[in-house]
Amino acid sequence: MQGERPERDQRAAGSEDIDVLIVGAGFAGLYMLYKLRELGFRAQVVEAGSDVGGTWYWNRYPGARCDIPSIEYSYSFSPELERDWRWTERYAAQPEILAYLGHVADRFDLRRDIRFDTRVMAADWDDAAGHWAVTLDDGSTQPTPHLILATGALSAPKTPDLAGLDKFRGDILHTALWRDDVAIDGKRVAVFGTGSSGIQAIPQLAARAAQLTVFQRTPNFAVPAGNHPLTDEDRATAARTLRADREAARHSPLGFFSAPRPGAAKAQDPAARTQRFEEQWGAGTAGMLLAYEDLLFDEESNGFAAQFIRDKIAGIVADPDKRRAITPTGYPLGSRRMCSEIGFYDAMARDDVTLVDVRENPVIDMTADSIVTQSGGYPADVIVFATGFDACVGAIKSIDIRGRAGLSLRDDWDNGPRAYLGLAIAGFPNLFTITGPGSPSVLSNVVISIEQHVDWIAQCLAALRARGGAIIEAEADAEQAWMAHTDEVAQQTLFPRADSWYKGRTRDGREVFMPYVGGVGTYRVRCDEVAAAGYAGFSIRERTSI
Ligand code: FAD
Ligand code: NAP
Repeated sequence: MQGERPERDQRAAGSEDIDVLIVGAGFAGLYMLYKLRELGFRAQVVEAGSDVGGTWYWNRYPGARCDIPSIEYSYSFSPELERDWRWTERYAAQPEILAYLGHVADRFDLRRDIRFDTRVMAADWDDAAGHWAVTLDDGSTQPTPHLILATGALSAPKTPDLAGLDKFRGDILHTALWRDDVAIDGKRVAVFGTGSSGIQAIPQLAARAAQLTVFQRTPNFAVPAGNHPLTDEDRATAARTLRADREAARHSPLGFFSAPRPGAAKAQDPAARTQRFEEQWGAGTAGMLLAYEDLLFDEESNGFAAQFIRDKIAGIVADPDKRRAITPTGYPLGSRRMCSEIGFYDAMARDDVTLVDVRENPVIDMTADSIVTQSGGYPADVIVFATGFDACVGAIKSIDIRGRAGLSLRDDWDNGPRAYLGLAIAGFPNLFTITGPGSPSVLSNVVISIEQHVDWIAQCLAALRARGGAIIEAEADAEQAWMAHTDEVAQQTLFPRADSWYKGRTRDGREVFMPYVGGVGTYRVRCDEVAAAGYAGFSIRERTSI
């Protein structure tokens, strides 16, 4: 089939003759490369970082670890890999996950097709030639018939535009761009943000800093991680049911091994309900969310779970002002990403940790060594921004992508992201996104979702190759229907009731709920049906027509 590859007429000097260019070498890009090679495609990965790992390469802040058990949050495509890799903790810390991805790259000899320290700046579709011209930050251009964006949903870090920041003379860090050369020990450290990253970093920073000031905007629900070392017996027990558990996860709502427990929280008597919450407590974020199957759908049931957590917080944080500020209210549990904590509430209870609620007491200025709020100044040698990401769209929009007739993806998505099945975008032929808006990825065990997306895209590329390298493009109607469906499904849940990074905004201020909440299993079935119907909702153009 590779002999049927079309002639390319505008190949740049020094560029390679490839079938597919993949952007990003995280979980998604690595598996995409492996899969395409297996099918005989010539694929190349371009990665901005100096090594593989994506999220786990960049997010090196103290305390970084996964919050889905590592035995679940890992690849399932190779039983040999599963057998040989030994996770040491239930929730592996960042260095171990990075080592795992390095091992995957070495084991499958992936590095030889990865170009590190190189950023993709732009991509232009040439309709006459039927290929993308991809511009790299060294100024070179790489032509490729297919372009796959494995750029990550949480990979474009966001830093707030704080008044007076340019006056601050201390060190400034972002959790997602962590540097070990900045001293923390014995320093006065200020952290902005109490999302998952902040909640993981704060206890570690509190233990090392001379004093810590936490600038919080919205308190989040956090539950104990329940982390522990894994013994040989733990690993052997997991291995016995691993195949069946993986299969269950692929067809589950959230991509976890465990399913939500049946029943409605509001239908149980208070004692039984509390007992069930206690049973789930300590089993991480998934534990609480899976306590009852209606928690993400029914406000009253959700309220019981939320109150259970608030009572737990009250049991740890004695200071009434801190407790009031840190206790989440006003939005349903789980409608913002739940956080996993190891000592967060204990750290916040410490006398040498100060909490500043920036909604009540906003930052108005900075000096060389302090952060000035309405009520006064807080000295700082180091500022840590744990302020998250331009989620779901940021990394894609940072590339100047021009589709048919020069259509700019960036401009187009400024009016709300759109994608068919979260995988392809009308107007942008032969372009695929992994974990794009409209896919369930960020609302699931992301690795399970990535494997599904990659398998589907690879199968699609093989089908196109069998048709002589035909060109595929999502149809606008199918895309619109999918985005409407994505929104409709979201509205049936409690997710839209919170302000969260799950939501994007159009130019005129309309909210767009970006992930697909219909469930990993349902989504898989839908994608398979689309493929079985000859890629329904896509237009496929034979190469002979160009
Ligand atoms: P990424 O890992 O983000 O990789 C994308 C890569 O693309 C990056 O290396 C980036 O440098 C590269 N890139 C982007 N743009 C360009 C460009 N223009 N040119 C060249 N290279 C580019 N998910 C879970 O399911 N469970 C968890 O426990 C969990 N924990 C997380 C913890 C943290 C701290 C964070 C930030 C996220 C976490 N996630 C978790 C989500 C996580 O992002 C995914 O699980 C997964 O790692 C994403 O893999 P990816 O390959 O899709 O993207
Ligand atoms: P995040 O959840 O978006 O949190 C960013 C935090 O910064 C929020 O608390 C936000 O407040 C705050 N913030 C933003 N601007 C601020 C300002 N000007 N002043 C004060 N606070 C400000 O980002 P994240 O913590 O990096 O996590 C992102 C996602 O990555 C998570 O939801 C999760 O999916 C994943 N992750 C997972 C883990 C894990 O445990 N495995 C760890 C880290 C990340 P508002 O909420 O008010 O905007």
